[in-house]
Amino acid sequence: MSGEAQIVGTATDAFAWDATANRLPAAVDVAIIGGGIVGCSAAFYLARDGVSVALFEKGRIAGEQSGRNWGWVRQQGRSPVELPLMMQSLRLWQALPSELGEDIGFRQGGTLYLAEDAAQLESLSEWLAVARQHGLESRLLAERELDAVLAGGDRWAGAIFTPSDGRAEPGRATPAIARGAARAGARVFSGTAVRGIETAAGHVSAVVTEQGTVSAQTIVCAAGAWTRLFCGSLDVDVPQLPVLGTVARTAPAVQLLDGQAWSPAIAIRRRVDGGYTVAHGGSSLHSLVPASFRYAVKYLPALRQGHDSLRLGFGRDFFRALATPSRWALDAVSPFERERVLDPQPEARVLRQMRAALCRWHPGIAEAPFVEVWGGMMEASPDVLPIISAVEGIGGFLVATGFSGHGFGIGPGAGRLVAEMAGGGADAAAVAAFRLGRFFDGSPIRPGPAI
Ligand SMILES: Cc1cc2nc3c(=O)[nH]c(=O)nc-3n(C[C@H](O)[C@H](O)[C@H](O)COP(=O)(O)OP(=O)(O)OC[C@H]3O[C@@H](n4cnc5c(N)ncnc54)[C@H](O)[C@@H]3O)c2cc1C
Repeated sequence: MSGEAQIVGTATDAFAWDATANRLPAAVDVAIIGGGIVGCSAAFYLARDGVSVALFEKGRIAGEQSGRNWGWVRQQGRSPVELPLMMQSLRLWQALPSELGEDIGFRQGGTLYLAEDAAQLESLSEWLAVARQHGLESRLLAERELDAVLAGGDRWAGAIFTPSDGRAEPGRATPAIARGAARAGARVFSGTAVRGIETAAGHVSAVVTEQGTVSAQTIVCAAGAWTRLFCGSLDVDVPQLPVLGTVARTAPAVQLLDGQAWSPAIAIRRRVDGGYTVAHGGSSLHSLVPASFRYAVKYLPALRQGHDSLRLGFGRDFFRALATPSRWALDAVSPFERERVLDPQPEARVLRQMRAALCRWHPGIAEAPFVEVWGGMMEASPDVLPIISAVEGIGGFLVATGFSGHGFGIGPGAGRLVAEMAGGGADAAAVAAFRLGRFFDGSPIRPGPAI
């Protein structure tokens, strides 16, 4: 089984390129590359502000990370660098269901990080100081208090809990945001890869898509795991490495909690269909690519700082990356058209570990069958924090990437920030926090938490 059934398929993708119906606009104010949650949110907020915007997606809206994630809209555990943007993003999530007029599965049932023993609980509770500094209600739940929010809570030593944290259905949220953007006037094209950009006098002037060229004063590259390749072809270095996650959803099962819970062995989220989205709490795979060696020094702090849930592998991905050109002609098929949707295989051994962990968790979900399993390729920056940035030397070019396994929750906030940056009115602290130049100007690389 693959993740295909959960993700908006071509047949239901209202934005798929159709030569008879779709005409590219000659010019827009802002062109966006990538129909994930960040690109779609940017298009939504720009269009609502009256900016003319076109969004281009090479495959399907939310076909990659934004449709394959766990669906956690989480403030808990975030680095203080991104927590303010995440708290803003949560406010945007709260407004989205009524703004979009759709049930995107957004509910606020809280996040639990569960501890197996006192030492783990003490380590988890260190983060509560960050929450306090930002005025976020997060608290420690002792073993006996856990039962109020988690069935079978007595097998844990305790937890930290953020009741306002939310969740949403990845298969619904981003397509709904894209539809909202289109209703507000954005032009949204899926099945339409951007091959490159044109510049004039050091400033962007157009995107070159496989269907034609569209003039634009601002271009946003929100291309997820493809950003390094796209930007590399423009001589812009965006340090980013891929990390594979394995996910499953269960059939409907007894309600254990109303939100999501993480432990080192397993992470579960209650779904609106009554099942659970489940994943291993601490096992992801970085399959080495040539760029792994190039960026090794930049990623060492992240590896040292307890990101030990990451396994390294070596295989086909290395040779595929080696065979991918770093430059291409703009009038010929580009790598983005050769792989419309990045659809990695889930890892069978991780699925077995997940099943074993579910069996230990609670009899109510021990046997709940996995009705769908899938792989999702995250993209991590060296400090595991977003890159939302102008690019030196290319006026009007913005990059929004590096969301490092937690960009779904922050996606609307990131999209709003991109819209403000495109309009020149963004918060200076946020612009400084997420600038690309931090990886190249000798600033110390201080990684945020992995989960
Ligand atoms: C298994 C897994 C679990 C996760 N769990 C969570 C979670 O619970 N909570 C959370 O907050 N985050 C989570 N994340 C992370 C989150 O999903 C991502 O950070 C977020 O979706 C990134 O959104 P994006 O828009 O930047 O990228 P994407 O969703 O990857 O979208 C980028 C899009 O750009 C398109 N594209 C690329 N190049 C081109 C081109 N040249 N032309 C046109 N289109 C192009 C791609 O096809 C793609 O659709 C998880 C990720 C994974 C994989």
